[in-house]
Amino acid sequence: MHLIFLGPPACGKGTQSAILEQKYGYYHLSTGDLMRREVATGSELGKTIKLNIEKGVLAASEIVNELLKKDVENHKQMSILFDGYPRKIDQAKFLDSVLEKNKDTLKRVFYFDIDAEELFQRILSRVTCNACGAVYNLRTNPPKEDGVCDSCGSHELVRRGDDNEEILKNRIQSFFEETAPLREFYQKRGILSVINARAPVEIVTEQIINAL
Ligand SMILES: [Zn+2]
Repeated sequence: MHLIFLGPPACGKGTQSAILEQKYGYYHLSTGDLMRREVATGSELGKTIKLNIEKGVLAASEIVNELLKKDVENHKQMSILFDGYPRKIDQAKFLDSVLEKNKDTLKRVFYFDIDAEELFQRILSRVTCNACGAVYNLRTNPPKEDGVCDSCGSHELVRRGDDNEEILKNRIQSFFEETAPLREFYQKRGILSVINARAPVEIVTEQIINAL
């Protein structure tokens, strides 16, 4: 019984995916991960994907569809949690066709509801430890002692580069432009649950579990 997590970058769906994977045995299918893996192989396809990621634009549907189809085939015995896919209506229809072929269906689609302003604030308050790479959010997940890394004690907690922020802002923008219509698409089908993604992590999990 498969699920989709629909939501903009930094909405917390990565955290929730990890929880569902660990506690409920879902296979977490992240198209972002699939693409990063393809990039790592150094293939021609991987090079094209790398270019798109650097520019902060969405990969072409054909590329993502191809990677997705293969991965669904490899995990068809499991309950799959789709994260970051579909992003557009044509991808949603493609996913339907892939699942139908396996006589499979979607159980539920979760829309992580949060506005762009809140996301920008979250991104701006992210800091990374220069020494060990630990990531904190000064608003939602600050280090125990102000300015000191919990894991290694370093005082070098720095914000991400501006380039990175620009890319993230672009991705958030395109989410609201291109992905939002999917909400209506799944609502009409009667399988959409809207989650309040501004709530603390445990409350978000609770909302998801209650709707399953
Ligand atoms: Zn550290």
